[in-house]
Amino acid sequence: MQILSAVKRLVERLAPTQVCAPCIAERVEGPNLEEIGLALSELAAAREFERDNADCGICGEHRLTIRKK
Ligand SMILES: [Zn+2]
Repeated sequence: MQILSAVKRLVERLAPTQVCAPCIAERVEGPNLEEIGLALSELAAAREFERDNADCGICGEHRLTIRKK
């Protein structure tokens, strides 16, 4: 799945910085926020990724973020 791999690559590149869905949406060409959200849920199922409410490392907003451990 192309969206998933694009999102995964971005989160890996930003590691260990956590990032929120809107910031990912700004940086990945194509998918809407809903599609990003689905990709993040899939990533969060993998052990090396962690979803948490935290200050986003890019925009600084306190939101649901994801990061690679
Ligand atoms: Zn952000």
